[in-house]
Amino acid sequence: MAKIIDGKQISQEIKNEVKEEVAKLKEAGKEVCLAVILVGADPASAVYVRNKKRACEYTGIRSLSYELPEETTEEELLALIEKLNQDKKVHGILVQLPLPKQIDESKVIAAISKDKDVDGFHPENVGAMVTGTLGFLPCTPAGIIELLKRSEVEIAGKNCVVVGRSNIVGKPAAMLLLREHGTVTITHSRTQNLREITKQADILVVAIGKKEFIDDSYVKDGAVVIDVGIHRGEDKKLFGDVNFEKVEPLASKITPVPGGVGPMTIAMLMYNCLQSRKRVED
Ligand code: NDP
Repeated sequence: MAKIIDGKQISQEIKNEVKEEVAKLKEAGKEVCLAVILVGADPASAVYVRNKKRACEYTGIRSLSYELPEETTEEELLALIEKLNQDKKVHGILVQLPLPKQIDESKVIAAISKDKDVDGFHPENVGAMVTGTLGFLPCTPAGIIELLKRSEVEIAGKNCVVVGRSNIVGKPAAMLLLREHGTVTITHSRTQNLREITKQADILVVAIGKKEFIDDSYVKDGAVVIDVGIHRGEDKKLFGDVNFEKVEPLASKITPVPGGVGPMTIAMLMYNCLQSRKRVED
């Protein structure tokens, strides 16, 4: 039987660590502030934004909220970002994705100051991640690494297979596993013999976006399995990209859905905001 990697508990530990440091900064008269921008009324995005604001409240980070109408133009959004870039009291800027179709997401991401890009999506932060220099790491992949480290999973020298190559999960997760000295294979929809490759994995990270796609036939005995997927089934039950019931008996450690990778994303966002404030010289 696999040991469950408890993302709820680990994310709580991280938020508590952030909260402690934020309180110390406050005592020294320094506030940490995150600006959150939501454009339009996508219900899933509204839930994510609400959860981010709650985490700010918990950790003592001040949150500024900008809720803009669906018909907001690209110029209007870019003007707001520029205003926040210039505001010395703001340390993190988060634009909730996806954006309405009249707005070019890549332009928006590039417009956020790299020093306030707490999502870690700015091309300069992506470059910093690849070269191993100081920047912000994207929250979900950074959360995966924290889950592994805090569950005492050794990454160095291990065969790590990532299923999925998106810019927000698969690619950066692979890069961070490489930074931790894993031997990394990235797979995607054109990969041939996926099973043969995933079966070699000591650490299998699944970000494929297909409900319960990975079953026991893809997993080596004793593998550590990280399931990034989130799918809402009927009666709002959540499922991952991994068939938990089939894979759990084989794995040595596994993340559940919900309560695995999901809560780590926001915890790492809080961590990034704190780092951003600490990098400001005043
Ligand atoms: P994308 O849809 O952007 O990417 C999916 C990837 O899986 C693509 O690279 C695709 O390959 C690959 N893929 C699709 N089908 C196959 C297949 N049959 N065999 C091998 N590879 C395949 O998804 P995301 O990366 O954005 O998200 C992945 C999952 O993680 C989703 O369920 C999402 O909801 C969840 N998620 C969870 C987060 C969290 O906080 N826990 C945060 C972000 C996402 P190709 O590139 O060739 O098309």
